[in-house]
Amino acid sequence: MFNSFAESSLISFPFSSLFNYCAGQEGLEPPTAGFGDRNSGQLSYCPSRHLVSASTCGHAKALPFHNRIFYLPDQSSARKGKSRLGPPLRSNSLKSPEIHAYGRLPPVTKSRISARIAAIAESATLAVDAKAKALKAAGRPVIGFGAGEPDFPTPDYIVQAAVDAAKVVANHRYSPTPGLPELREAIVKKTKRDSNFDITADQVLVTNGGKQAVYQAFATIVDKGDEVILPSPYWTTYPECIKLAGGTAVEVFADESQNYCVTVEQLERARTPKTKALLFCSPSNPTGSVYSKEEVKAIAEWALKNEIWIITDEIYEHLLYDGATAPSIPVLVPAMADKTIILNGVAKTYAMTGWRVGWMIGPKDVIKATTNLQSHLTSNVSNISQRAAIAALNNDLSAVKKMGEAFDRRRKLIVKMLNKIPGVECPTPQGAFYVYPSVKGVLNKEIRGRRPATSAELASLILEEAEVAVVPGEAFGPSGYMRLSYATSDEDIIEGVTRIKNLLSEAK
Ligand code: PMP
Repeated sequence: MFNSFAESSLISFPFSSLFNYCAGQEGLEPPTAGFGDRNSGQLSYCPSRHLVSASTCGHAKALPFHNRIFYLPDQSSARKGKSRLGPPLRSNSLKSPEIHAYGRLPPVTKSRISARIAAIAESATLAVDAKAKALKAAGRPVIGFGAGEPDFPTPDYIVQAAVDAAKVVANHRYSPTPGLPELREAIVKKTKRDSNFDITADQVLVTNGGKQAVYQAFATIVDKGDEVILPSPYWTTYPECIKLAGGTAVEVFADESQNYCVTVEQLERARTPKTKALLFCSPSNPTGSVYSKEEVKAIAEWALKNEIWIITDEIYEHLLYDGATAPSIPVLVPAMADKTIILNGVAKTYAMTGWRVGWMIGPKDVIKATTNLQSHLTSNVSNISQRAAIAALNNDLSAVKKMGEAFDRRRKLIVKMLNKIPGVECPTPQGAFYVYPSVKGVLNKEIRGRRPATSAELASLILEEAEVAVVPGEAFGPSGYMRLSYATSDEDIIEGVTRIKNLLSEAK
């Protein structure tokens, strides 16, 4: 960077770039070179040797420097690996009253955690679940509506396939990064069976749960500065993955009056020349909403017209009620196949959250690129889990149907009970296993001496006073909502929602 500067020219550049240039390089002082206003984020720098004082550097007088003067390492010696600092400036050479310090900057403390990783928020849903489990372990009668996982055990025939696989030595070894050939083939067949979408095995990458597929999808297509339109309320992991990829999540909020489903008009208002992709999730976590076929088609056509990628999360595809359907985007609009990445997995459909098997389906170039990424991250998914997933996918959907019937019964029960609580409004979801009531009618009212102003405060109150764990809307977008998972027993639903009702009925 320095080499390209003309010897006599005066230049300025962001403080951070100087730091990045110098940091870690032997012979270069971290940003002790140059002078200028550190607080403004700009460091003005005069590239003559041994700088610098207001009186000796003609350039300096013209500079709007305010509060620091620093030494400049000689660049030619710095390049040779030596740092040569100029002699200390004598204070009488400093003419400007604003210059009140010179010499080296105090050592810069490097943060222990990178800015990129420090910016990641803890998964709010896992945090609520962990808190509820910890309270339970401590003997408190906590009822948890936080977890996003079926309460059923994995079906026996799937478990048996894993037991058998554990005894086969080949499964003790590394296997191909993109997945066992038999599993990729099973995903091809399952995608045809369930979505009527024709793909080939080289369009499939098996991942460590759907979560890794989410991360890798954004990492593969999003560049720094790209915008990703994110319908809100959204699943809490999406914005973090977008951020990690260097992108910006552009949230588009749809409230309960539109059943938490965004419209093409809203998407169009959010679109800019930087829009690279849209995240789409139907049935939705956290709302349970399902887009109609017409809505999905309209959104896919809008994306096609505007050359926008769609990352579509189909992980709840089989959890549908009241005759709802969740058609796959590239089936409704085939021309979108070249710009669509499908995310899916066995976790929700087969009660296999702990097994960690998910997958991505996409155009071949995308899958090839993502496989390269995964080859450095995690390599193959556990062979035992992959063998279990093969058993799951190659069997029929009767186990899923049975679980779905229980979820459907609980859905009706929880919606009915929640809507009886004054100030709570709960739309009837058509998919997944979540309800997403508005609690705006309860906020800012006095409950047991407290006045919760946000859904986060209300969720804390409910946990402390009623010993019921719910996830506040803030984890998924705006305040004013709560997510309750009804993938729990009928008894817990009755007891838990009764406790919430008794507490919130005290609101004045
Ligand atoms: N997508 C959505 C919408 C989810 O809710 C989840 C799990 N909560 C996942 C993906 C990831 O699931 P897993 O990593 O357990 O396969």
